[in-house]
Amino acid sequence: QTVHVPLSERSYDISIGTGNLAEVGRWITSLRSVTHAVLISDANVAQHYLNPVSESLEAEGIRVTTLVVPAGEPSKSVGTSQELWEKALADRVDRKSIVVALGGGVIGDLAGFIAATMTRGLDFFQIPTTLLAQVDSSVGGKVGINLPAAKNIVGCFWQPKGVLIDTAVLETLPRREYLSGLAEVVKYGVILDPEFFEYLEANVQPMLDRDAVVLQKIVARSCELKAQVVAEDERETTGLRAILNYGHTYCHALETVSGYGQYLHGEAVSVGMLCASRLGEKLGVFDQEATKRQYKLLTALGLPVDVPKLDKEAILSAMQRDKKVEHGKLRFIVPHSIGKVVLTSDIPAGVAMEAWTDGYVS
Ligand code: NAD
Ligand code: ZN
Repeated sequence: QTVHVPLSERSYDISIGTGNLAEVGRWITSLRSVTHAVLISDANVAQHYLNPVSESLEAEGIRVTTLVVPAGEPSKSVGTSQELWEKALADRVDRKSIVVALGGGVIGDLAGFIAATMTRGLDFFQIPTTLLAQVDSSVGGKVGINLPAAKNIVGCFWQPKGVLIDTAVLETLPRREYLSGLAEVVKYGVILDPEFFEYLEANVQPMLDRDAVVLQKIVARSCELKAQVVAEDERETTGLRAILNYGHTYCHALETVSGYGQYLHGEAVSVGMLCASRLGEKLGVFDQEATKRQYKLLTALGLPVDVPKLDKEAILSAMQRDKKVEHGKLRFIVPHSIGKVVLTSDIPAGVAMEAWTDGYVS
């Protein structure tokens, strides 16, 4: 199955299947002619999938430079980038070389950044291997690295020439990482597609079992929905792309104040979506029934929904520092109904915090 991402001359396809990993060589050569590939992965992913991918590239006569970094967020750094630039150069990278990312969001963001910067820009191909990367980070063209003081602060937009998704690789993904990715899937249903939300409600057990047919459906639909939004607002200028941040203002505050690593991103998204949903109720735009449906679905998927008791002042100031804030006024994406969201502005801090504290376990 193919999902087209229409971005005029930067358009590309996402090819989704089961067991298609070993066809990566033929897939890439069908898109352009290649003699040299820089294949970037992390140690966990490499252990399972590096050989089939590099063999498949070599079978097409492509010379492969393999660069494996330690797994985890700290690899999205200037230091690791410098190492990768130097190793690629030492192995004779040139302007016709391509970069292939094999891994989760960390590898996609890092390898995309290397592709964007090496010799002023190399063609970039992605093979996302976490659910989060398959449904979210590999669509949209945002690439970059962190500085010690701020996440994703150095980077750019660099669209891939193609994305290949093999849902079978999710079998080896740790359960917590898998469930975390499901939170973003639920998000797409809430912000854009009521029928998709109903499909998720009806398929909880197969989702938990990582059923191949259901995975194909939820990954493809999520990619389609994100691609639609990105196509209309590629550079986050019209404001439409902001709807993808549903639940994320609370999520970022929770991630920051609890200390990175306490919550996986999708877990914090789950808690954040319910806060935003309760905020919608308080503002009179969203009905209780819809909050309950989200609560029920997220809980059934094993995702956290309760708000932990953290320093409230710290949460508020983290929300006020979030990049969606303009002139100190809080703005939130809140649901109007399942499948439709609205962007609110000038939300008083007190109301925003009530939606937070109402989520404490009683
Ligand atoms: P990740 O890349 O760190 O992967 C999570 C863990 O799973 C890692 O330990 C990894 O080695 C392991 N792993 C990956 N695939 C596996 C597989 N198939 N089997 C076994 N283990 C596997 O984390 P992530 O959640 O995929 O991505 C998080 C990153 O994505 C963050 O840095 C975030 O900033 C970024 N992100 C970017 C965008 C974007 O638009 N560019 C969007 C959302 C998130
Ligand atoms: Zn997210």
